[in-house]
Amino acid sequence: MPPKFSRELQQPVIFADFLDFQPRTSPCEADCPAGNPIQKISYLVRDHRFEEAAEYLRARNPFPGVCGRVCPHPCEGKCNRSRYDESVSIRALERAVFDLSEAGKVRRPLPMDKTGKRISIIGSGPAGMTCAYFSSLFGHSVTIFEGLPFLGGMMRSGIPDHRLPKDVLDREIGQILDLGIESKLNTVVGKDVALAEIMAQYDACLIAAGRRNAKSSDISGSRLGSSGMLLGGNYSLNLTRKGILNVDPRTMATSLRGVFAAGDISGPTGVAEAIGSGRRAAIGIHQYLTNHLTAQVCNITMDRQEGVTVSVVDPESKVSPPHVVTYEELSHIDYFEKKPRVATGKMETGEATKKFLEADSGYTREQAAEEASRCFHCGHCFMCGSCVEDCPGYVLAMGADGPTVAYPEECWHCGNCRISCPCGAVAYEFPLSMLV
Ligand SMILES: Cc1cc2nc3c(=O)[nH]c(=O)nc-3n(C[C@H](O)[C@H](O)[C@H](O)COP(=O)(O)OP(=O)(O)OC[C@H]3O[C@@H](n4cnc5c(N)ncnc54)[C@H](O)[C@@H]3O)c2cc1C
Ligand code: SF4
Ligand code: SF4
Ligand code: SF4
Repeated sequence: MPPKFSRELQQPVIFADFLDFQPRTSPCEADCPAGNPIQKISYLVRDHRFEEAAEYLRARNPFPGVCGRVCPHPCEGKCNRSRYDESVSIRALERAVFDLSEAGKVRRPLPMDKTGKRISIIGSGPAGMTCAYFSSLFGHSVTIFEGLPFLGGMMRSGIPDHRLPKDVLDREIGQILDLGIESKLNTVVGKDVALAEIMAQYDACLIAAGRRNAKSSDISGSRLGSSGMLLGGNYSLNLTRKGILNVDPRTMATSLRGVFAAGDISGPTGVAEAIGSGRRAAIGIHQYLTNHLTAQVCNITMDRQEGVTVSVVDPESKVSPPHVVTYEELSHIDYFEKKPRVATGKMETGEATKKFLEADSGYTREQAAEEASRCFHCGHCFMCGSCVEDCPGYVLAMGADGPTVAYPEECWHCGNCRISCPCGAVAYEFPLSMLV
């Protein structure tokens, strides 16, 4: 088999079960709980294309300004560059996309046609707001029930201003509400309105009430039973001993038909995790309401002209998840010059609090572009042309979308292209005849 090149995204992707042009990926992307397209962002920021980067990020995550400040960045812990000099400052780049893109120039996503279906969301933390955002993009009408007098959950009430200024949160929540989402504040489900009443009025319900409040807010209007079930009227939901709802991690569906759960109440805690599960819940709810995705394998993209588009992939073509490229696989690593991380501006926490400022002032455009240029693009071709140059049989040619196999029958399977690729983007199988 001649080499296969794993390529970068050409349009924003909300969800992909299987992208045939991406059989490989990087450890950073594989480990981002929100599912951020980190490598695409590095490309675009390197070229000062902050507005496009914002479009790609917001196709996965409506809170890059928040995550770019408070996420504990597991992506950086896994970054292959940490084995070479220092990991790429992925979180600071995410923040730079939010801070430095001009809001007026970032194209707003075009939602799908209205479906006439109504979704209720209990809790306005990152999980609930993310599910509201994507559900609106999928054409459903959304109402958020929030017990407190403000939206944002722990992002607003838990994280201090010197780490996450309120205006950042307000801007991101404002962009979500702009899609036409209704919110009912000061409305505790289980006290001011019963879950049964909501269930009767809406086609599907998401419980995104966080973990801290799960027991005390008592969603169902009843209390946590000793059997580990959250009880209420005719409804019961399985809870584990730790107070977490049992959910299908792919669709975020609970044991009760039409009820989904996301965020802290459904498992591991953190803003990025809540965002990732909120997006999966929106897709699970859309599937439940429209039967649109029953083929199991689907991709949802944000086409610039067509808007949000669901395409069903031939189930036969489903393969295992993309291969995550390790540091050892970057065989041409000396292609990259060693360079330390670009530092962001920092202030003592005490001084920042006194001055009502953020302790970290982030990057300038130039600093962000410089840091982005440190990314190895592990697993996705970045069109350096090394493989084309090093192929002894002149089998490869450089096209507008990267290298192509111009003469497949002429390939000797020598492996030079794979060895010369600095980012490990070449997948390569020896033909059976060479192995026997
Ligand atoms: C002090 C603190 C600091 C943190 N710092 C960080 C950090 O730096 N980085 C990080 O990644 N994570 C941090 N976290 C964790 C992070 O905030 C949570 O993991 C995340 O907010 C969970 O999101 P969620 O949507 O599941 O729920 P939450 O953010 O908890 O939101 C749940 C919402 O549901 C509402 N609600 C609950 N019950 C009802 C009801 N019955 N009816 C109506 N509304 C209801 C609540 O009022 C709340 O607004 C921190 C948490 C705390 C407490
Ligand atoms: S959300 Fe967290 S893990 Fe994902 S890219 Fe941002 S900092 Fe990294
Ligand atoms: S070098 Fe770039 S692509 Fe590779 S793991 Fe680090 S941030 Fe991700
Ligand atoms: S470098 Fe070798 S393996 Fe790669 S395309 Fe050329 S002949 Fe085939």
